Amino acid sequence: MSAPVRVGIVGGGIAGVGLALGLKDHAHLDVTLFESARAFGEIGAGVSFGANAVRAITGLGMGDAYAALADHTPAPWRDIWFEWRHGDDARLLGTSRAPGVGQSSVHRADFLDALATRLPMGMTRFNKRATHVVQGADSARVHFADGTDFEADILIASDGIRSSLRDDVLRGLGQAPVAPRFTGTCAYRGMIDSDRLRRAFDAAGVDTHLVDVPQMVLGLDAHILTFPVKQGRLINVVAFVSDRSDADPQWPAGQSWVREASRREMLEAFAHWGVAARTLLECIDTPTHWALHELAQLPGYVHGRLALIGDAAHAMLPHQGAGAGQGLEDAYFFAQLLADPAIARDRLPDLLAAYDSIRRPRACRVQQTSWEAGELYELRDPHVGSDDALLGSTLATRFDWIWNHDLDAEVAAARALACTAAEMERHDTDDARLQRTGIGAGHRAPSGFPE
Ligand SMILES: Cc1cc2nc3c(=O)[nH]c(=O)nc-3n(C[C@H](O)[C@H](O)[C@H](O)COP(=O)(O)OP(=O)(O)OC[C@H]3O[C@@H](n4cnc5c(N)ncnc54)[C@H](O)[C@@H]3O)c2cc1C
Repeated sequence: MSAPVRVGIVGGGIAGVGLALGLKDHAHLDVTLFESARAFGEIGAGVSFGANAVRAITGLGMGDAYAALADHTPAPWRDIWFEWRHGDDARLLGTSRAPGVGQSSVHRADFLDALATRLPMGMTRFNKRATHVVQGADSARVHFADGTDFEADILIASDGIRSSLRDDVLRGLGQAPVAPRFTGTCAYRGMIDSDRLRRAFDAAGVDTHLVDVPQMVLGLDAHILTFPVKQGRLINVVAFVSDRSDADPQWPAGQSWVREASRREMLEAFAHWGVAARTLLECIDTPTHWALHELAQLPGYVHGRLALIGDAAHAMLPHQGAGAGQGLEDAYFFAQLLADPAIARDRLPDLLAAYDSIRRPRACRVQQTSWEAGELYELRDPHVGSDDALLGSTLATRFDWIWNHDLDAEVAAARALACTAAEMERHDTDDARLQRTGIGAGHRAPSGFPE
């Protein structure tokens, strides 16, 4: 029996841990996960998943862990993803429905904890900050800041938007490095006890339906979203504010992307909004302030035996609730491709190349439409503007293509592509053999005839 294929995963966020879980049960794979921190860690905020992401989570074997933690839109509104309202007076603009799924969300830290406990003992190495990768003909070696290194047959970099390994891929492809760029949008985040919010809405004469059903509240250059986490005990709130005065906004070098903010500062940013929005924000005692960054669409996710997944490849604005979902799709995709015990070491670069060909166009489209969604929500879409009816009808079905995606068809296409590459290489080898024996490559016998 040949030795197991060595898979190195660098970065233990949702994408990296998801991939490790998807690969852990295969005897033909020897998987090691490297994380720069001392332990796994996620923030205490909500993250929501579309039907596509929930399918990937299930396919990675995490379905029961997810189901045990997930919140859903309650009956009788189960299919509702978000209701869209105007920031002025909370008037309803429309509703997006995701049949059978509705809004599906978890508390990030709870979810990552639940996943991490399922990783086999010894699979993860902490305090391992990857710095760069050196590739040879048959393997790739990742180097760490502590002076150690690790040799693998393939390396998957899931080290987030500030990836240390992204530039190794881009350099290998002869491309310029790509740094995260500030989007001009900042977000105030907070969690509210749902009973407290209900009482505050009651006192202000606001319908408490706005607590029960996930809401997206729209206004000029700002919008606010709410959805429940922790079995409805908490309401996750993100209030976005965009400055579009500069076409190329810059975040000061060295300044943290996240800081504590005061409630007053946050309320000032929404000073002209209606009572429902202001009552909601008044319930956030200690908001945090996030400068949102994204990546340009990359010219490639793969070089040789090194591939980027998750935010390392396609960090995006969070306006479609799809960033982590794309990372989970990547993880599911790789888990399926690597599941074949007959996988040949010399074919691994073909599998990675197939990942790049098949996954990158979709992830880039999700990146692009996430930016466009922000323009739409903040009444800056050139066709829709602030037209209530058009907003409602546009938003009703805008996300279906993300949720209804057939990831298994992508996997099948990648397998076919990798097989074709192998077949072509076999022919090339045949050609070389024919040339060695004196018969020109152009003289191969027609198919069906013995050579
Ligand atoms: C305000 C906001 C709301 C969002 N809401 C949603 C949502 O509702 N739904 C959704 O799908 N997405 C959402 N997203 C996007 C989502 O948070 C990200 O896409 C997702 O968390 C990225 O996961 P990841 O595993 O790729 O990267 P990360 O979570 O960044 O994980 C990277 C890991 O790699 C480690 N690491 C970093 N560098 C190194 C190194 N050199 N060596 C070793 N390890 C390293 C880090 O410590 C970390 O553990 C939101 C984002 C924001 C900002």
